Amino acid sequence: MPTLHGTLLQPRSTAQCDVTASAVVEFGEDGRFAEVRSGKPKGRDVLGGDGRWILPGFIDAHLHLPQWDRRGIDGMALFDWLDRVVYPAELRFRDPDLAEKLTHDFVTGLITNGTTTVAAFGSPYAESTDRSFRVLAERGYRAVFGKILNDMNCPPGLCEPADKALEESRMLAAKWHNAEAGRLRYAFSPRMPSCCSEKLLRGSAALADMLQCHVQTHVGESSAVVHASRETHPDQIDDVDVFAEMGLLTPRTLLGHGVFLDQQRRRQVAESGTALVHCPTANLFLQSGLMDYVAHRAAGIRMALGSSVAGGFEVFMPRVAVAALQTAKALKVHAIPRGAHPVPGPAEAWWMLTRGAAEALGWADAIGSIEPGFQADCLVVRPEPWIADLPPQQQVSALLYTLQPCQIEHVFIAGKRVGPGTPAPT
Ligand SMILES: [Zn+2]
Repeated sequence: MPTLHGTLLQPRSTAQCDVTASAVVEFGEDGRFAEVRSGKPKGRDVLGGDGRWILPGFIDAHLHLPQWDRRGIDGMALFDWLDRVVYPAELRFRDPDLAEKLTHDFVTGLITNGTTTVAAFGSPYAESTDRSFRVLAERGYRAVFGKILNDMNCPPGLCEPADKALEESRMLAAKWHNAEAGRLRYAFSPRMPSCCSEKLLRGSAALADMLQCHVQTHVGESSAVVHASRETHPDQIDDVDVFAEMGLLTPRTLLGHGVFLDQQRRRQVAESGTALVHCPTANLFLQSGLMDYVAHRAAGIRMALGSSVAGGFEVFMPRVAVAALQTAKALKVHAIPRGAHPVPGPAEAWWMLTRGAAEALGWADAIGSIEPGFQADCLVVRPEPWIADLPPQQQVSALLYTLQPCQIEHVFIAGKRVGPGTPAPT
């Protein structure tokens, strides 16, 4: 087991991010951090050294595996983009061999960008979802994952009867939930209310509760989505109301986007303990809207960040975090009165990338922090050298804004080096 040496970044809260110069991080044989101290390393097998920083691995709490190779296709609003880009991309996953290959590309890309945990949607196809899980297991990756569910308002080939969708999900959950020493978890994954019948939504809630799995879905992503939810489920006011009625607002649920939530809905989401995943790059890319992160946080909602690939084009999570700060600044400069709208700072961005996201995923006791007993998910990076000359809190800011994927030298998950540069098994 190597010993890591470098400047240690430790997000402590939304307001505090500690920096420890010359820290030593030791791994235990069980894949957890065994010791974290300041000083010089003693042994020979040392990674890092001068100019290196040790960071917790990044957590991306909302993205779509089948859309990995469809990033950056601009010029469409959400429903048009679903028809022309997303659905054809998912239909390819009828071929399990292609699903396996693209899952390797997905994992390689995420590791290259320092992401050590994801919550991701798969395709609707059970065999391909199983093959993707096998790749995630082989590659030593950490993921919440599940086959996407829809039984209406989707193209033929993607839609399936609710009974079949639920039974296949149940089988996959039985096989993969908490597999690989807990690194893999299953998420029942209804796409969004307008694509799901009441039977499919209620069934997802019941099975996720019975098996203690996650639920992941989309909420209030755009005004068109909210309108479509109302048309499909006319007895409910909006999509939050649909999820509440169907039993899907739970502490194990991850709601992607949430651009269109009023204060009453924010309180409802917060009181249910449901987590919300802020996807600022996708919200702008698809011109859906500017999500009011500060209002969500102030209401007490547990929050994480998502690249939202491929509604989002950016997979390097620090840039997604910067987009969250920039979105809050954009809301502030247009707020009346202007000063009334607080803006989160870089410490909060680091928190959201790591420990805060772990809390939102219900994984706060195991990941997101470099301290003894936590899973050894971390990065060794080599940022621009001038950052070392700054006071600590300026370092926290400059590192967030200037770090690049090419500066990542090592990525560890559960104490095992997984990249960058480790070839995929053939
Ligand atoms: Zn999504």
